[in-house]
Amino acid sequence: METSENCCVKVALHIRPLIADERQQGCRECVSVTPGKPQVQIGSHSFTFDHVYGNGGSPSFSMFEKCVVPLVDGLFQGYNATVLAYGQTGSGKTYTMGTGCSDNCRTGIIPQVMDALFSKIETLKHQTEFQLHVSFIEILKEEVRDLLDTSSMGRSETSNGHSGKLTVPGRSLIQIRETSNGVITLAGSTEVSVGTLQEMAACLEQGSLSRATGSTNMNNQSSRSHAIFTITLEQMHKLHSNSSGSDASDEDMGEEYLCAKLHLVDLAGSERAKRTGSDGLRLREGIHINRGLLALGNVISALGDEKKRKEGVHVPYRDSKLTRLLQDSLGGNSKTVMIACISPADINAEESLNTLKYANRAR
Ligand code: ADP
Ligand code: MG
Repeated sequence: METSENCCVKVALHIRPLIADERQQGCRECVSVTPGKPQVQIGSHSFTFDHVYGNGGSPSFSMFEKCVVPLVDGLFQGYNATVLAYGQTGSGKTYTMGTGCSDNCRTGIIPQVMDALFSKIETLKHQTEFQLHVSFIEILKEEVRDLLDTSSMGRSETSNGHSGKLTVPGRSLIQIRETSNGVITLAGSTEVSVGTLQEMAACLEQGSLSRATGSTNMNNQSSRSHAIFTITLEQMHKLHSNSSGSDASDEDMGEEYLCAKLHLVDLAGSERAKRTGSDGLRLREGIHINRGLLALGNVISALGDEKKRKEGVHVPYRDSKLTRLLQDSLGGNSKTVMIACISPADINAEESLNTLKYANRAR
C-alpha cells in the first residue's frame, strides 16, 4: 500500500489578510504570490509549496478540501494522520485550526473535520460500527497537560454531562508510552467517548477554554505551548458472507477491526527565544518550545529525504515530547500536512521568512 505519496509530508502555506492592528501601524504587505502557481516571494527569496492560500493564492476556503479531506478519508482506511499549524504568534495558527474559543468555530479545520467525520459515519453506519474518542492536551516546557481534565478547572462535569476523570491536577502525570507494536499512547489523559458532533464540539470548546484560561493566568502561555486535539476512530466492519467463487467457507467471516487517529496540532509560536523576553524563566520556556519545533523540523526533514530514508537513517522522534507523541502518526503509512501560517505585513517579514525556510525543509 505504501507509495511515495503516502510517505511525504505535504506543505501548504496560508497567508492571512492584514489585521486591523497591522493596518493601524501603517504596515505594508511584503509577501506576493505568483499568479496560478503555489509560489511566494518575500524580498529576494522565492519558495514553492504544495499549495499556497490567501493573498492572491488559492482561496482559503478550499484548503480543507485539498489538504485535510484526504486525511479524514485515510482515517476510515485505518491510516493515522497529522495536521500541523506552524508559524509565529499572531500568524493565524489558532484561527486556522479552530482551537480558539468562538470566532472561528465554524470555519476552522477542526470543526470542519468533525462535520466531515460525522457525515461519513452517517453514510456507513449500516455496515460498520463506529467508536470515537477524543483527547485534548497541551505540551508546555516538555510537560503534558490535560485540557479535558475538568478537576483541574474546578468543575466536576463537562457540558455534555460526561464526568471528568478525577486525577490529581499534576501535569507530569501524563506519560507518553509505546506499546510493543509501536502504538503511542498517552497514559493518564482523559479520553472522552463521543457519540455525536455536539459532544465532540463540546470537548473542543472546553479544552480551548481551558487553554485560554491557563494562558491569561500564566502570561500568555498559549503561544508557548503545543495544543493537540486527537480524534481516535475505531471501526468494526461486519463482513458479509455473500461473496461468490471462493473455496474458503465464507459463512460468518466475522468482523474486521480498524483503529486510526488524527492529530490536529496548533503548534507553539515559532518566534525566537530572544524575542519572547529576557528574564531567565521565559528564555528557558523559549528553549523548550524550540526543542519541540526543532525536533519536529528534524523529523520531518528526515522523513522527506528519500535517500536518507532508504539508507535507514535514524529519525529523531525521541528528541522531544511533541515528536514522541506524534511518532506513530508522522511518517510510515501516515499522512501529514503542515500548514505554515504567515502574516503578510512588512514588520513580520523576518519571522515570515523563517517560517518559509522551516516549511521548505519539510518538503
Ligand atoms: P496565532 O494562533 O498564530 O497566534 P491567531 O490565530 O490568534 O494567531 O490570529 C491572530 C489574529 O489574526 C487574530 O486576531 C485572528 O482573528 C486574525 N486572523 C488570523 N487568521 C485570519 C484569517 N484567515 N482571516 C482573518 N483574520 C485572521
Ligand atoms: Mg494561537
